Amino acid sequence: MSERREQYLEALGIPVWKLRTTPTPVQSADVAAPLEVLSTRLIAGETAAAATMGWDELAATVRVCTKCALHATRTQTVFGVGRRNAELLVIGEAPGADEDRQGEPFVGRAGQLLNAMLRAIGLARSDVYIANILKCRPPGNRDPQPDEARTCTPYLSRQLALVNPRAILAVGRIAAQWLLQTDAPIGRLRGRVVPYGEAGTPLVITYHPAYLLRSPLAKATAWTDLCMVKDLLRKPQ
Ligand code: URA
Repeated sequence: MSERREQYLEALGIPVWKLRTTPTPVQSADVAAPLEVLSTRLIAGETAAAATMGWDELAATVRVCTKCALHATRTQTVFGVGRRNAELLVIGEAPGADEDRQGEPFVGRAGQLLNAMLRAIGLARSDVYIANILKCRPPGNRDPQPDEARTCTPYLSRQLALVNPRAILAVGRIAAQWLLQTDAPIGRLRGRVVPYGEAGTPLVITYHPAYLLRSPLAKATAWTDLCMVKDLLRKPQ
């Protein structure tokens, strides 16, 4: 990216992530420790009706879903966005206020940073598929409740099967803990590649962009996670 373009983006308040040739290796003692997880597959997806749906039926089903109480407080559902046969599936937590208003995941400030993170590893937002654990906004941006996540998971499970990505990037503690059915802290979950689901799709976990906005020093650590994703996508198939 040219210096002028960087200055322009910075003046607009758009975070600029720069590609470094030598990432700072961050391997904390936590990350080196063996990982105790209960599951490496999305629960409940297989038995649900969603498991056989195509994209259009799935999107239409989510649009009118009333399976949990969140339907009463949402403006609209937030299904997912991006390339339906993407090499990378990004999984976040749940829509926030901006997403609830616009019907698209990661469109607020955290979304701007997510876009910059993807750009830094050579991916446009439109190159990847982005979805959340929950398709409806929890009121006041509270954490998703386990029963809400359990009810919504068949939709994500089907999205994962349909996209069939080469790699998954889960952002944030909530998404990571739900996917792996663990309460291990994110510092232990990130920084490694976990084979995920039936297909053993490589899953990388990193910090949520909203956390990185509050704690910019953690960006260096997140960068090492992104480099893992980049390497996975570079590997010959
Ligand atoms: N945070 C998320 O986890 N997902 C969104 O879509 C927006 C913010």
